[in-house]
Amino acid sequence: MHLTLLHLTLHHAQPRGKMKISRKAFFKGLAFGTLALPGVLRLLGWRGQAQQSSGPNIITRKRYQWKMVTTWPPNFPILQEGCEQLAQWIHEMTDGQLHIQVFAGGELVPPLEIFDAVRNGVAEMGSGAAYYWAGKIPAAQFFASVPFGMNAQQLNSWLLAGQGLELWRELYSHYDLVPFPAGNTGVQMGGWFNKEINSVHDLKGLKMRIPGLGGKVLEKAGGSPVLLAGSELYTGLERGVIDATEWLSPFHDYKMGFHQIARYYYTPGWHEPGTTLELIVSKTHYDQLPTHLQAIITAAASRLNEWTLAAMEAANGIYLEKIKAVKGLQIRSFSDEVLQELKKYTVTVIEELTQNDPFAQRVYQSYHAFRQKATAWADLSEHQYYERLSTPPTTVQ
Ligand code: CA
Repeated sequence: MHLTLLHLTLHHAQPRGKMKISRKAFFKGLAFGTLALPGVLRLLGWRGQAQQSSGPNIITRKRYQWKMVTTWPPNFPILQEGCEQLAQWIHEMTDGQLHIQVFAGGELVPPLEIFDAVRNGVAEMGSGAAYYWAGKIPAAQFFASVPFGMNAQQLNSWLLAGQGLELWRELYSHYDLVPFPAGNTGVQMGGWFNKEINSVHDLKGLKMRIPGLGGKVLEKAGGSPVLLAGSELYTGLERGVIDATEWLSPFHDYKMGFHQIARYYYTPGWHEPGTTLELIVSKTHYDQLPTHLQAIITAAASRLNEWTLAAMEAANGIYLEKIKAVKGLQIRSFSDEVLQELKKYTVTVIEELTQNDPFAQRVYQSYHAFRQKATAWADLSEHQYYERLSTPPTTVQ
């Protein structure tokens, strides 16, 4: 029916796509409701989906079958579980239009090869943490976690309401990837030790599994960071291949069984004050998706970002009780002296990281400026609350 008006007003000699319509007739058509939307969009040069549909009731839906590869072990609680949920949410929200098959670390590609796998089109999506790619992209570490850096809340703020995500997207665009924050571990624990750490000298010669920038800081303190896969940590610590290890926080640490073979569980996790987990999507494939599927991926990543931290908090509270009940295990805090020394080494490590890398410098400047303001506010809000008001009443009247 809408064709009637078009036939009356279009210059028939014009080829399709370059048709002209008088302004008067156009608005007249709108006023009488005779110019249906697909026709209007064509006239305005719209090249979106309206061009593909042949009528208002005919919806052509291209289906997408994607693969997602992760750095997490199969069935790994919360982190791999979250990826499976993400795929399920996207399936539900798209009514099956975008279906994602999830492969845990090693199932399709080795865990630390997922970055290249998504870049090279082996899979369209991946899940890991940006500091895993420090070897090829040092600046990426700011998007995961930095020793003595921002916590989960502050990092989310920088990424989502500051400049963080924009910088992250710029950095990853060189690798044909689109990153999304998709979870945070919260503040981690400082690790499992078999000797007391009373001063920074106690770290000298210590062989500890501690990855990334934290490992570099330990090195400055005279320790030896050791790289071991998660699956080798328990036996490594038990047999003395390593003297100490960090992993995550009470829930995941308890599942690893470290409480059976270590005497001291130290806090805080100065090296990982809140690690962002990342969802990476092939930019080529992402750009080819219709807008509504892109929006759904964004929404699902955002839901995963929220859910992961919530799940970590809930599980850590429960498992801290179990750890506290372990006979012979002592939960200790690093002394101020130890933390101050480690902080000094961190400054050096970050200087070394940024001095020859202009992009890392840009990211750090943004990170640092944001953090200063966030810390000033946290000192007055969160810090005051935790220090003085966070103990709940023991009985409720
Ligand atoms: Ca860790």
